[in-house]
Amino acid sequence: MTTDSTVQVLLPLALDDAYTYLVPEGMVLGEGDYVRVPLGPRQVIGVVWAVGGDAPDTAKLRAVTEKFEAPAMPELHRQFIGWVAQYYLEQPGSVLRMALRVPEALGGPRQQIACRATGREPGKLTSQRARVLDVAGDGLARSTAELAREAGVGASVVKGLVKLGALEAVALPAMAAFAEPELNHNRVELSDGQQLAAGDLRKAVTARRFSVSLLDGVTGSGKTEVYFEAMAAALAQGRQVLLLLPEIALTGSFLRRVEERFGVAPAEWHSAVRPRERERVWRGVASGEARIVVGARSALFLPWLRPGLIVVDEEHEPAFKQAEGVNYHARDMAVLYGSLGGFPVILASATPSLETLWNADMGRYSHVRLAARYGKAELPDVELLDMRAENMPSGEWMAPALTDAVVETLGKGDQALLFLNRRGYAPLTLCRTCGFRVACPQCASWLVEHRFRGRLACHHCGHEEPVPDSCPSCGSENTLVPCGPGVERLAEEAAQRFPDARIAILSSDLSRGAVLKEILRDIARGDYNLIIGTQLVAKGHHFPQLTLAGVIDADLALETTDPRAGERTWQMLAQVSGRAGRGDKTGRALVQTYMPDHPLMRALADGDRDGFLAHESDIRKRAMLPPFGRMAGIVISGADRDETGRFAQSLLGFVPDARDVQVLGPAPAPLSMVRGRHRFRYLVMCARDVDIQAYLRQWLSGIKPRGSLRLAIDVDPYSFL
Ligand code: ADP
Ligand code: ZN
Ligand code: ZN
Repeated sequence: MTTDSTVQVLLPLALDDAYTYLVPEGMVLGEGDYVRVPLGPRQVIGVVWAVGGDAPDTAKLRAVTEKFEAPAMPELHRQFIGWVAQYYLEQPGSVLRMALRVPEALGGPRQQIACRATGREPGKLTSQRARVLDVAGDGLARSTAELAREAGVGASVVKGLVKLGALEAVALPAMAAFAEPELNHNRVELSDGQQLAAGDLRKAVTARRFSVSLLDGVTGSGKTEVYFEAMAAALAQGRQVLLLLPEIALTGSFLRRVEERFGVAPAEWHSAVRPRERERVWRGVASGEARIVVGARSALFLPWLRPGLIVVDEEHEPAFKQAEGVNYHARDMAVLYGSLGGFPVILASATPSLETLWNADMGRYSHVRLAARYGKAELPDVELLDMRAENMPSGEWMAPALTDAVVETLGKGDQALLFLNRRGYAPLTLCRTCGFRVACPQCASWLVEHRFRGRLACHHCGHEEPVPDSCPSCGSENTLVPCGPGVERLAEEAAQRFPDARIAILSSDLSRGAVLKEILRDIARGDYNLIIGTQLVAKGHHFPQLTLAGVIDADLALETTDPRAGERTWQMLAQVSGRAGRGDKTGRALVQTYMPDHPLMRALADGDRDGFLAHESDIRKRAMLPPFGRMAGIVISGADRDETGRFAQSLLGFVPDARDVQVLGPAPAPLSMVRGRHRFRYLVMCARDVDIQAYLRQWLSGIKPRGSLRLAIDVDPYSFL
């Protein structure tokens, strides 16, 4: 029978369907309400996905325990969750879990309950009770603890008075409210080019329908100021704005810039935000009070009430792709959200992804260009240093021309940057006597020496151990030698070459959170004049005194199996060289490479983006790689290598017949073991017009891995390890 006294509740667990529950007497539930329900012996928080529905035997159903007061999850957001699940072949519950990361925000916030005098007599008036009522007599609401403290009594006295009706509990807006942004707080005067671009974006916003605009301009061309105008337009409509950035670009100085522009601090959403602040932001987004959120990718899953614009800055960044759990790409899902919600999306980058450029070429996205750098700053001259001709002594990584350039730059009082995208001291530790290489006990990877911490570390599982004194294999003492450079080793070389330089090392394992903020501030102030860093330095920072960027090993990223390796290398090099000369001074970039004839390097030296893109697109088109084809990765893992391999192989027997789909594998994954689990991979490739999700569902939905075996599907993969 169909009855209104049941609800379908989606739980944040890897389940296929919503579960049916009874609605207890007196409780009124609507779609989107947050509820607590029993599940086995546990109580779980879920969301009402539907009201009513078939319940053949209501006698067996359990009842909803509690309804939360938080505003219901909007229908659009529920749709969004469903679509994300569909696209990535995930259970909706797994996606819902990302939207329920702050369960504390649902209940009446703990400190929000306060006591206030009612004017009623408490029966027997003891002296302690009298003191409490005296303090409470001013009519202000205080928490139990505050009231007890001010009256100099125990909390039980206050609670007793609540029970007797002399005090009443009232809800307080305990957390600071989000102030309204001021749309014209600190508008800069835009250049002509910026004005044109801002006009295009504003038009997209005022149209109040779905559109995607690519804001394309070199580093320092003033893109941020331009999309601020679009944000102001969306805010003027009373809607909420989400500005997405890769986690490492969410620096204090960037947040201050947003605050300076709009006169109020934006809500922040990233891994360093404290739990209580998370609660506040979650509630602010749900109530619509938080108007501007600046966040990392997971901010998409906040319960948006009135989303009016999403800006994805550094849209080309692979960091927008989540590598664990639900493998979603925040840029792509931002576009999906906009299309479901009928609002515009802006993608900004100095080095747009091929995917986005292709969408622009096809006319799906509008292409808004900013040609020149803002003000005087010119793009740096890029010069290739042919390392084949250098004959570098072992243990040294800087060619003489780069050394000279650093000396000259520091001599002028400017700052220089040395970029090497490798954390630690050395990527490999080797025994000179027996050739033994120190590997991770749980992964198929070498341990990386981190000399500052005196540890060897695995970059895949986090395993760490002290650097051994003797070779673990042959027992020889003092025969272990580091091979290859990491930023720490490069810093050692630089300290020898430039003894007077004030060196800052920027690497995610050395500087995070507050420390990183401090170093970035000190660099901007000029306390350091030589910056050595990993990709952490390549992001959006603005150091006006920086006029030289040196790239130690431009070939690193090319030596991978990643089909986007060329694009990644180009983007990284363009971003790094773009760090130089952002102020009034012209910059210079020196790029060390063993492949100076590679089309990518030549295009970089010539500043020929179109040439590079044409070359790269051609390769991708011929191989049917994205954006010209679709891809999905399948990783099969398990504790036992043979069993895992057999299971992977057995899947071949179920591969559906489809002429236009290519299934490669199974093959041992390049990273063949992680955390003690052996890994095998498939790669599925097809034309763009093939429904790859339907194909994968047909192939894999009936397959249930047993025991330690796992099967993970990665739609639009960015990792091929
Ligand atoms: P992008 O985001 O393209 O890298 P930014 O927006 O960060 O560029 O601009 C680079 C620098 O130029 C910043 O310091 C910014 O404050 C400044 N700038 C950009 N546009 C203007 C403008 N119209 N008036 C004043 N300063 C500007
Ligand atoms: Zn040895
Ligand atoms: Zn490991």
